[in-house]
Amino acid sequence: MSKDRLQAIRGMNDVLPPESAVWSHLEQSARKVLHAAGFREARTPIVEVTALFARGVGETTDVVEKEMYTFADRDGTSLSLRPEGTASCVRAYVEHAVHKAEPITRWYYAGPMYRHERPQKGRYRQFHQIGLEAFGSDDPMLDAEVVALLDAIVRQAGIERYELRLSSVGCNEADCRPAYRARLIALLEARKGELCEDCQRRVERNPLRVFDCKQPGCIQVAKTLPRPLEGICARCLQHFDGVRRYLDAATIGYLVDSSIVRGLDYYTRTAFEIHGTGPELGSQNALGGGGRYDGLVEALGGPAVTGVGFAVGVERLVMALGPGAAERLAPRADLFIVATADVPGARERAFSLAVTLRGQGLTVELDPRGGSFKSQMKRAGNVGARFVAILGAEELAAGNAALKNLETGTQEQVALDAIAAKLQSP
Ligand code: AMP
Repeated sequence: MSKDRLQAIRGMNDVLPPESAVWSHLEQSARKVLHAAGFREARTPIVEVTALFARGVGETTDVVEKEMYTFADRDGTSLSLRPEGTASCVRAYVEHAVHKAEPITRWYYAGPMYRHERPQKGRYRQFHQIGLEAFGSDDPMLDAEVVALLDAIVRQAGIERYELRLSSVGCNEADCRPAYRARLIALLEARKGELCEDCQRRVERNPLRVFDCKQPGCIQVAKTLPRPLEGICARCLQHFDGVRRYLDAATIGYLVDSSIVRGLDYYTRTAFEIHGTGPELGSQNALGGGGRYDGLVEALGGPAVTGVGFAVGVERLVMALGPGAAERLAPRADLFIVATADVPGARERAFSLAVTLRGQGLTVELDPRGGSFKSQMKRAGNVGARFVAILGAEELAAGNAALKNLETGTQEQVALDAIAAKLQSP
């Protein structure tokens, strides 16, 4: 066996205490927001056939072209780790004919995604998303509902400095995106020499990508082009106005950003992004994004059902909460039980008391090493316990504990079977 030290794969992180408390907080807070709007969880496999992502995300996207973890299964089938969540949700929606059971479907998901990108602060190869998909209506009210939920997830998590950006990328009718695309291709062909290699190669197949490109030459060219929002048809403009009306009615703040394209191919009409504006995030300040995808269900073999959704990156939300969040959100013990081996039977009593009180819903800690009274009191302070129950010889004989409030310093004798009620009273 190799003596090399075994390490996690580059770009794939361990999430350990105390930081894991921030993750739990974010997930719980997001679930609460989503449940309040009638969204229910969908859990799909992490591995899918590669063809799903090629068809569902788009063969000319960076994600599919360059970033997927793809491998051959034992029978030769090409499989990939999911790079995003929408394609899998749509596959499941079609496979289980969910549209037959309900006219509107509201699903959310949370879990790891995989993209072979160059790791840097805020950009990893395994990262985590919380996302939602809403199927069954193309009414702008549903778009607004989804945008409002993205805003609520970020706000409820405790992030204050962010910016919601909204646009429309149009539809596939001839007078909308196809006409705009043709205009764009002509303009880009004329300035092809100024574009990066990737954008040059994609002028014909995916000209909108230039708005997403970070190369200086491409940024310069993109500035001179008509923006995607400027190329949409009257019907899409009306739809976009509808989305804005609903958001305005609910006083949800947003900026119109006419250059949003989104990195994945399936978007139609509404497209939106949410960016952190605090100093914590650096260049990777996109917290999440999404949009409408009216042709995707059909493209993946399903009925003509429309959809809209988004995903937020959990790592980015953690970063946006800032460095103090872990300490602030760390779970605290209600009670720490102190018992030393000097008192016969005290450790057994402490153990059984801990089991009983935990069963009654309290968070209770013990020090399995035993050790001196002093060292156990110190440990109780270190874990931030609210109370300490001391099981000395006298207390044990009387069926009591000396219950000390570590916040106020007061101490009193309390019968062991009255501790739960005492700690749970406000
Ligand atoms: P996308 O699916 O590309 O629209 O990404 C949605 C969100 O997922 C982004 O706004 C980020 O917050 C997050 N995200 C995407 N890629 C990564 C990555 N490689 N590392 C960390 N977070 C990511």
